[in-house]
Amino acid sequence: MSMLQLEKDVQKLASSAKLSDAVQDVDKLIDLLLAAKERIATASEPHTTGLTLTKLQNPVREGLEALNTDLKKVHKAQNDFNKSLKGAFAKVKGELPTDHDPMEAHQHLINRAIAMHLLREGQFNVASTFIDEVQPEQEDAPSPSATLHHASYDESASGGDAMITDADIPADLTALQSQALQSQFSDMYSILSSLKDHDLLPAIEWARANNAELEARGSNLEFELCKLQFIWLFKGPSINGLPSGPGNGVPGALAYARDNFGHFQQRHMKEIQKLSGAIVYSPNLATSPYRSVFDISLAFEEVAASFTREFCSLLGLSAESPLYVAATAGSLALPQLVKYTSIGKAKGTEWTTTNELAFETPLPKSMVYHSIFVCPVSKEQSTDINPPMILTCGHVLAKESLIKIAKGNRTFKCPYCPGECSIKDAREIVL
Ligand SMILES: [Zn+2]
Repeated sequence: MSMLQLEKDVQKLASSAKLSDAVQDVDKLIDLLLAAKERIATASEPHTTGLTLTKLQNPVREGLEALNTDLKKVHKAQNDFNKSLKGAFAKVKGELPTDHDPMEAHQHLINRAIAMHLLREGQFNVASTFIDEVQPEQEDAPSPSATLHHASYDESASGGDAMITDADIPADLTALQSQALQSQFSDMYSILSSLKDHDLLPAIEWARANNAELEARGSNLEFELCKLQFIWLFKGPSINGLPSGPGNGVPGALAYARDNFGHFQQRHMKEIQKLSGAIVYSPNLATSPYRSVFDISLAFEEVAASFTREFCSLLGLSAESPLYVAATAGSLALPQLVKYTSIGKAKGTEWTTTNELAFETPLPKSMVYHSIFVCPVSKEQSTDINPPMILTCGHVLAKESLIKIAKGNRTFKCPYCPGECSIKDAREIVL
């Protein structure tokens, strides 16, 4: 059973297992009964009651039969789909090199990933129900007081170590139900939905409020948003649908630039000059050299993606839901794996390398990640101004830590080995 077949079965299920037909039949029955009731209540002649009830018998029986047929159809479709679902997954399982589930012992990691995913998607009620339902299964969960200091929801809380061990993850998922986390995500969703409606102002307000953190990360988000707001106004009422007036069109854009571009001048002078240069061409932008700057067909999607990335990163989370990435990468790579193992079986060869794949798994660029570097001395994540530096002994520290340890001397001892190193020979590394 292929996935394609399964997709077809899902469509079949959606088209045949419709309870709406049953609901319609129930409504018809109710109408029949109500009409009969009305007739009896308003009847002037005594024999009307008997006649009405007799007349009712056949239609009611037919209605109930139709209802049963509807429900049987739904049950049959559900059963059929259940069968194809079982068939599809049993097949996949049988073809994998291992029949055991490597995540079996890490159920709470998976539960946590699912809960976190739901929260990130803004599905707060579903997340809350999910957490409540998985919670009692974890009998070894520590008492609430023991988990209080663990209430952090920071996915990167385990520091630079890429391997998150069970010990890093609070078994008690109720920490994820924290109001603070939910309200953060609900802020994110309200800003994103404004962006979808081409309203940049809430996002700009957020970027401004978090200006210091964003700048420390080298983010241009606030400028990108303000620049788009300028272009959006510049395009005028016929494109942006905002009411015409002094605040819209070219005059509105100019006023916006005067009020908002001041503090960007140092970092983004060139781009600001470009934007103001375009004013000369405003009657005929489409054929001007500024055409590409003012083409904003994808701009709102792009700023929404950067906004999500920055927002999540300030929360200590990755921009994409790890569960989404893992599931997508897994389903992209799985066919290769199945192919490899079936060829291996046919040729009688065995999978010998335990920790690496014997073939390439072609994943899209967006799923290839750079590692982040956290300095083992300062425990800080590296930035553009504080990059990771490799010492001659091979150990890596953040630049600031390096300078601190050297204390102005030309040579110093590596904090992790007896190696004698010099600042001069340390090299910046790009991850
Ligand atoms: Zn060393």
